[in-house]
Amino acid sequence: MDRIKTAVAGARAAYNLGKTRPLEFRVQQLKAMKKMLTERKDLISEALQKDLHKNDFAVQIYEIAGIVGEITLALNKLPEWMEPEHMSKSMMTMMDTVYIHHQPLGVVLIIGAWNYPLALVLQPLVGAIAAGNAAVVKPSEVSGNTAQLLAQLLPQYLDKDAYPVISGGPEVAVELLKQPFDHILYTGSAVVGRIVMEAAAKHLTPVTLELGGKSPCYVDTNCDLDVACRRIAWGRYTNCGQTCIAPDYILCNKSIQDQVVKKIGATIAEFYGSDPQKSPDYGRIVNQRHFQRIMSLLEGVNVVYGGKNDEEDLYIAPTIVTDVDPDSRIMQEEIFGPVLPIVTVNGVDEAIAFISRRDKPLALYVFSHNKKLIQKMINMTSSGGVTANDCLIHYSIAALPFGGVGKSGFGAYHGKHSFDTFSYRRACVLKSLAMEKVNSIRYAPSTDSKMKWLLWLLAKQGDGKKLQLIGFLILGALVSVIMKFYFKW
Ligand code: NAD
Repeated sequence: MDRIKTAVAGARAAYNLGKTRPLEFRVQQLKAMKKMLTERKDLISEALQKDLHKNDFAVQIYEIAGIVGEITLALNKLPEWMEPEHMSKSMMTMMDTVYIHHQPLGVVLIIGAWNYPLALVLQPLVGAIAAGNAAVVKPSEVSGNTAQLLAQLLPQYLDKDAYPVISGGPEVAVELLKQPFDHILYTGSAVVGRIVMEAAAKHLTPVTLELGGKSPCYVDTNCDLDVACRRIAWGRYTNCGQTCIAPDYILCNKSIQDQVVKKIGATIAEFYGSDPQKSPDYGRIVNQRHFQRIMSLLEGVNVVYGGKNDEEDLYIAPTIVTDVDPDSRIMQEEIFGPVLPIVTVNGVDEAIAFISRRDKPLALYVFSHNKKLIQKMINMTSSGGVTANDCLIHYSIAALPFGGVGKSGFGAYHGKHSFDTFSYRRACVLKSLAMEKVNSIRYAPSTDSKMKWLLWLLAKQGDGKKLQLIGFLILGALVSVIMKFYFKW
């Protein structure tokens, strides 16, 4: 595995030379990535069509647009983000410069997952570059065509030394994880997340884990079911259900279960026609292993819509399952496919209790006209993100941190949050060598008066502007009093 050591050492050397730190370099690299996405969009579309049957619309909207949006934001905001963050001072540091310096972490590792194989690697990379790091990129081998294309294209557009791409499967990832990094951002399953964290612990490397989980979707009886079902169908069946924040299951009252099935079924027909296998807008399962995994979840459950499948074509029709036993297998693991189980509950309190008994999910959805009910759901549950009366949308807002909580991961990125994730907030105090007499009260020999003054000064922390005002007003007086004391001591 010499290529891994060479690549990581090359990235480290580039970082240590200071190559990745200047604003101009970051801007130039981000622009180059944008150029790559424009100039090579046909090749990108071809690879994603082969990997997941994504059409141009899906590639542009669900992969490229998000990355370009993040680049544009970073290009506009980077000078502001890099500015020192001036902080409020204590009375003791009134005359000093006190600020947070945003410093790159160093060489970071980005490990991507296969379901949005371009976005899940390049979006974090935008943050890593913006924050001034070197980065080693490891795309998922499961979406092999996209991984291969990234390995071919990135070195043509980005700095080869600072941003190497390492392709390969778990054995390569394991080898890569033996190298020292300054941060690791991993996207994928919790099982591998543990492996990543263990490897990172050996080097005391901080990690961001972007994991998954079973994201619930509560549909209230007081709700526009037509609209709710359209939005849920979109969230569940986009990318053939292989979306980490897709609604994984519906919780609703038994009295509306049949209507929900009927309306989601009608929406599926409207979106994908009478035979979704023929629709250019409907994706495919990424490989046979996942096809068999999803099909096995359908054993012994009550399929009321869809269920058709074709292993050779890796096709599973949009499927709905009703009256699901909360203890059945389909309710134990994340489905990550085009299957939507419905579990019936008696109202919102039972839904909240159901959700709270389980691992904290990556996303949570609630559909209702009742704003109080929505607030109650938000206050009484926990999840990485929440969207009310729609699905997936919180992912698209760069101002919101995207990440999980509990078993759905920790740390977050997107927009400024990516910059923060890949930056170290270094505490800086710049003093002058003048006014040494003022410092005398902290030096030995100690006296009761010195202690009294010091305690008073130390207590005046962090009142921001108010403190600054008072500070300036009494500073003159204070200095003269201290001087008086000094000579008395
Ligand atoms: P995957 O198989 O693509 O694995 C992810 C990465 O881990 C790959 O790069 C792979 O090479 C690497 N890997 C696999 N085995 C490894 C090992 N033993 N040691 C080290 N690295 C290893 O993806 P997956 O795990 O099937 O991902 C699906 C999960 O990811 C789902 O739970 C989904 O919800 C979650 N996900 C989360 C997000 C998010 O942003 N939070 C996005 C997409 C997917």
